[in-house]
Amino acid sequence: MESLVHRLRSRRIAVTPQRLAVLDALDSLPDHPNAETIYQAVRRQVPAISFNTVYKTLEVFCQKGLALKVNPLHEVARYDRVTREHAHLICRGCHRITDLEVQPPPLTYLSPEMLNGFLPEQQRLTIWGLCRDCQESKPIMEA
Ligand SMILES: [Zn+2]
Ligand SMILES: [Zn+2]
Repeated sequence: MESLVHRLRSRRIAVTPQRLAVLDALDSLPDHPNAETIYQAVRRQVPAISFNTVYKTLEVFCQKGLALKVNPLHEVARYDRVTREHAHLICRGCHRITDLEVQPPPLTYLSPEMLNGFLPEQQRLTIWGLCRDCQESKPIMEA
């Protein structure tokens, strides 16, 4: 519990029982959970908490760099406790999100002409496809 408190304080987030419970759930749930899954886990510890409070807490965590938001195509946002730079493999069959430890190329490969005044701040590498289980259970061409 001490390290959860420390992680909130180090990001200048006020420590509340609700925030501790949300961070604890984000740590313990596998596979980049969505807000609903996190809410269901938090409710077991803090029965009075609302979905809205959980959602807002996750947004604060993302703004303060304590979590990353992953936005898969055609699906609700998922949350990632791993905030260091890494890539994602997203399965379009089962929506599983797997971390991939590769670094995208430095943003300097984009010339000022290509950017046309746009100021790049961050990039994420996301690769969509089918995981091994889904390749075995459905034809590859099926969207
Ligand atoms: Zn899959
Ligand atoms: Zn991740």
